[in-house]
Amino acid sequence: MDSTDRPTLIAATNNPHKLIEFRRLFPDFRLLSPAQVGSNFSYEETGTTYLDNALGKALYLFRIVEIPVLADDSGLEVAGLEGEPGIYSSRYGSLDGNTELSDSQRNAYLLERTASLSDRDCFFVCCMVAVFEEKRFFAVQETFHGILASVPSGSGGFGYDPVVYLPERGKTVAELSDEEKDAISHRGKAARRLGAMILPLFR
Ligand code: IMP
Repeated sequence: MDSTDRPTLIAATNNPHKLIEFRRLFPDFRLLSPAQVGSNFSYEETGTTYLDNALGKALYLFRIVEIPVLADDSGLEVAGLEGEPGIYSSRYGSLDGNTELSDSQRNAYLLERTASLSDRDCFFVCCMVAVFEEKRFFAVQETFHGILASVPSGSGGFGYDPVVYLPERGKTVAELSDEEKDAISHRGKAARRLGAMILPLFR
């Protein structure tokens, strides 16, 4: 607990943007980065599911810091590509598997691969995990459905947001405000469910 009585979680990420997003999604918690508790954390995602990766990352950091840890793993699945890029979303399109493309290069690659695809249903997935002890954790996995656009549009958000169109809103995800996206996104839904599950454990 801090002076505001918010329980502390260590966020298993070194990405400052993700930390900002976690803080926005978990207003009832004090979220610290690994660096803030003196850990230079680095974890290679080798799992075959979102849960493997999120839990693996959370447990790895928990063993170092021994304070409750929050981690997530997410991706985009395109129905007509049998779920590609899925858990490989952040590395998708990189020829050698190491050099990362920029978000706009990756979106161009995805649209090129799907140019002739008629089934354009797609969905984001987010698995979020909070580890409290070596054998005690809580996990939630949520989804967020859309349609793969034919051209990118919008400048908000990150990653695949400009190429995921929401027919009911007449916009891509990148055309939503942060608050609009959080209210309906895979990560927003997972965070609200996980937050509600774990908050009582600190009281
Ligand atoms: P990770 O969860 O940090 O491993 O990242 C997974 C990858 O999935 C990101 O790098 C993005 O490419 C993609 N992704 C996950 N969530 C979103 C989202 O909300 N918008 C756009 N792309 C996303």
